[in-house]
Amino acid sequence: MPIYSYSRINTFFTCPAQFQFRYIERRPSPEAEGIELFLGSRFHETMEYLYQQVPLKVPTVNELVDYFKKHWESQFQDALRKQKEKGFKAPLRIVQEGPTVEDYFQKGLLFTENYYHQYHPFDQDQTEGIEMKVAFNLDPKGQFKMQGFVDRLGRDSEGTLWIHDYKTSSRKLSEEDARNEDQLALYQIGLSQNPHYGAKETFKLLWHFVAFEKDQVVSERSPKEIDQLKKRYISKIETIEKAKSYPTKTGVLCQWCEFLTVCTDGQKWVENKKKNAEAKEANGKTAPAVQAAPVAAAAPATPAVAVEKPAPTPSLNPSPAEDGPKPGRKKRAMAAVSPDQLKLF
Ligand code: SF4
Repeated sequence: MPIYSYSRINTFFTCPAQFQFRYIERRPSPEAEGIELFLGSRFHETMEYLYQQVPLKVPTVNELVDYFKKHWESQFQDALRKQKEKGFKAPLRIVQEGPTVEDYFQKGLLFTENYYHQYHPFDQDQTEGIEMKVAFNLDPKGQFKMQGFVDRLGRDSEGTLWIHDYKTSSRKLSEEDARNEDQLALYQIGLSQNPHYGAKETFKLLWHFVAFEKDQVVSERSPKEIDQLKKRYISKIETIEKAKSYPTKTGVLCQWCEFLTVCTDGQKWVENKKKNAEAKEANGKTAPAVQAAPVAAAAPATPAVAVEKPAPTPSLNPSPAEDGPKPGRKKRAMAAVSPDQLKLF
């Protein structure tokens, strides 16, 4: 049985066909990397750099912004090279109509600056790990194994361990929704099984929605909830292991699926959606477009968009890095597209 990751499990329940393409056939993506994932990867790299520097010397905001710019540029050059080599239509895939690569770049700069000013001098906790691998068993016999990577682990002055996760989405979880987000809770299981930490530690789960002025969403899990979580994920893995076929499961995520060009069902779904939207518009039934306001632009205290209930699967930000031995950002870029990315910009 393979070692499962959160994203691998979620991909199966989102669309078994996508799971087959990605994890069974291991098909290379026929399309360029999505811009949302590209932005997320550059921001994560910037955070990694920041917290590596902090114990020695706190960088200036300009140093941090320069780091983001430099990495964006070098990775974009890489994307251009891949486009040429693989014959992609564009260096980065932009599904949303309107925003350009430059717009996403500017967002990233803003996220970096806002984060810096909000957390400087970065002494809220002491970093114990960055891009930290967690590998763990869901059952006592070790039959059901999972692994993942924690964006950052910090310990505060009271001894609590904070599992940090960075999101560049323009949709923010509510506290209630965060209670149903499993990824960081699974990482808590992993850290509890790490001999360096153990089950007696107190954990808090912290999502940073960096497009928002108040970026934090915090949650925690009781021992009972952790036990239930383990059982739930064992059952999910059993379902995947028993699968004999991998049917398509069309839906809104098809638009962002890297396998859309090779998936007839997905293409039909997207075409129908487009036709329906055009027909509605022609009938004058379309409600006036509500501008989703990514907060970073004007930095209001709360998002101007209504926070939607996340789809049960996939998670907010499944990281393909979980599947690899080391979470290189290029691997992260292969992540399943998540519902929060659908609302980007
Ligand atoms: S395009 Fe849609 S149906 Fe096809 S593999 Fe992707 S998510 Fe599944």
